[in-house]
Amino acid sequence: MSVLKFKPEHKEQMFLLPPSVEEFVPENHLARLIDGIVNELDCSEIEEQYSELGQKSYSPQLLLKLWIYSYSIGIYSGRKIESKCETDLAYFYLACMYRPDFRTINDFRKDNIEFFHKVFIEVLKISSDLGLTHIGTIAIDGTKIRANAASSRTKDKAGYEKWKANIEKTLQTLHEKADKINAEEDERLGSKRGDKLSKKIGNKTQLKHKIEKILKRYEEEELDAKQKINLTDADANMMLGSGRIQPNYNCQGSVNMDGVLVGQYASTSPSDKEQLIPMVELVEQNMQAKPENVLADCGYASYDSYEKINEKGIVAYMPDQEYEHNKRHPEKTTPFDCINFLYDIENDYYVCPQGKKLTFKREYSNKTYKQKAKIYQCKDCQECPFREQCTNGKYRTIHREDREYLKQEARNRLDKEQGKVIYQQRMSTIEPTWGNIKFNRKFLMFSLRGKEKVNGEFSLVCLANNILKIKKSYDESQAA
Ligand code: SF4
Repeated sequence: MSVLKFKPEHKEQMFLLPPSVEEFVPENHLARLIDGIVNELDCSEIEEQYSELGQKSYSPQLLLKLWIYSYSIGIYSGRKIESKCETDLAYFYLACMYRPDFRTINDFRKDNIEFFHKVFIEVLKISSDLGLTHIGTIAIDGTKIRANAASSRTKDKAGYEKWKANIEKTLQTLHEKADKINAEEDERLGSKRGDKLSKKIGNKTQLKHKIEKILKRYEEEELDAKQKINLTDADANMMLGSGRIQPNYNCQGSVNMDGVLVGQYASTSPSDKEQLIPMVELVEQNMQAKPENVLADCGYASYDSYEKINEKGIVAYMPDQEYEHNKRHPEKTTPFDCINFLYDIENDYYVCPQGKKLTFKREYSNKTYKQKAKIYQCKDCQECPFREQCTNGKYRTIHREDREYLKQEARNRLDKEQGKVIYQQRMSTIEPTWGNIKFNRKFLMFSLRGKEKVNGEFSLVCLANNILKIKKSYDESQAA
């Protein structure tokens, strides 16, 4: 190599002055922000769990910094973090040149689930101090994230019984084989001990016990035999996500208009229908304030949601399914769809597209769905040229739920120009948040199992997202 052309490479050369860990990362590096935030956190609750006896442990702050930084840059494995602590300057900085092994790193995540919820709240407080947590309008949405479990291990009761029978059959064959080997070894080795059971028998027996535990749940909890349970993560539910039905969690989030996640939890229900009120209440608890407006898609709409959100004095920008269908597929709608019948609130009747009245006929109630409705009927259908398009019966009827007016109010709100603008903000707030988490940082599967641990991990995902928001806001303010 020509010394005239190229810079010399002297790996053996000593530094004149020993380098400081402080010099490893630039001034505005994300690692510094995380370091500063975690240094301000009260970790005494966790510190108390450590003993002063024996070998000194890595501090909870150090391990927390490693996890938050890793979730911020899309690293979710303890082994990868261990490796990064040997090669990456930001990790050198956060770990102060220590090299914790992956078990210590993983155990910290697994054992401090509750703490991650608290850190999430603490980060929200910091965002608030920086003016990033205005709570006027929030957008709520859910996204399915894969559980750490294989689809093939999700079965109903009959599936588990069949699986157990197959394992018992395999175990019998393996035991016979092992007995034969033992007899041969006894003959050959005398009283010396040979291997009695192979590893395979041990694994199969363990699997059989797990299946028995699940089968016991069906009996004890009186579960429907058709209900499917995953053997690896019994809380995960089969849901449609990423175009496939697989064991998932339905992760719920709400963001304010600065894109900061102000509420987060992972649900095991595939539907969003019952998630609106729990999420709003969580946001109220996290922020100690009530939002003025809530934006949510039609998956959250139900009479109960409209009613409860109205009782809270919050304005919902939330289309119902029929309204959304009409907007998205105008070609599939007809003038005879219920939504196109006008309701005269003062005189309590509907008017059909032919200008005929549908008047009150009787009341109707459904105890299962806790619904009360009024039935309206048109008496002029016999002569109508559109009767076949309008109804299958002799007379067209419409069921009007007692809370229908709340749905109508939401429709009116969304029809206004201002309502459209407000509802559109959903697209630029909560949806990009899921995009950043799932596609940019590739958080596509939980590492932990079970609802409680998954919720803790989800808090870690969300607090890392909020720290990145703080960083972005800080960078923008510096550039301005
Ligand atoms: S069938 Fe009856 S309700 Fe329907 S458009 Fe004709 S008159 Fe109106």
